[in-house]
Amino acid sequence: MKLVFASNNAHKLCEVRAMMPAGIEVLSLHEIGFEHEIDETGTTLAENSKIKADTVAEWLKAHDKWSSVDGVFADDTGLEIDALNGQPGVYSARWAGSAESNRAKALHELEGKDNRNCHFKTVITLITNDKTTQVEGLVRGKITTEEYGHGGFGYDPIFIPEGYDKTFGELPAEVKNSVSHRARAIANLVEVLKMYDY
Ligand code: IMP
Repeated sequence: MKLVFASNNAHKLCEVRAMMPAGIEVLSLHEIGFEHEIDETGTTLAENSKIKADTVAEWLKAHDKWSSVDGVFADDTGLEIDALNGQPGVYSARWAGSAESNRAKALHELEGKDNRNCHFKTVITLITNDKTTQVEGLVRGKITTEEYGHGGFGYDPIFIPEGYDKTFGELPAEVKNSVSHRARAIANLVEVLKMYDY
């Protein structure tokens, strides 16, 4: 089965490829010749996830490439911090600007706060010939008081997943890829894909 992953994020692509079972080939946007940025104009993770998948599916159809693949899927992810009423949420990418300044802002906003609980949430939209499906994945954890580790990307150096005492920036990629929000969303996606006999 061939699926296009509608993301320009090389980290996400690498993680998703490591998580997919043999039998599901994941094509990048670059591999299909799609070289555009997609505007995330939605107000929820579900909306943005659907916008990304829809944009690429429409592009494939307009370029007579839709029949060469079995579908498209997209991931939209947000960090929801309890003490900040769920911020930055859908605005996680644009909260302060760069990944570094986003992490600095989270640490700053939580300065002196005891409640550092939060979760990452991923919504995946899958578009195939016959339908559009959405699945979610969530991992709870805590925000640290400083950065630890250089692995992963985005908020990983300040996020400790529940059940661990190290950040996603410190834990080996295999550990992140087995417990993360994205891993759980992909596991749910794979359940859906089973009905296509991949
Ligand atoms: P988007 O899903 O590409 O819009 O990402 C939203 C924001 O969350 C960006 O700032 C990403 O860097 C960050 N992000 C997405 N996935 C992860 C992750 O697995 N770990 C840490 N940060 C992430």
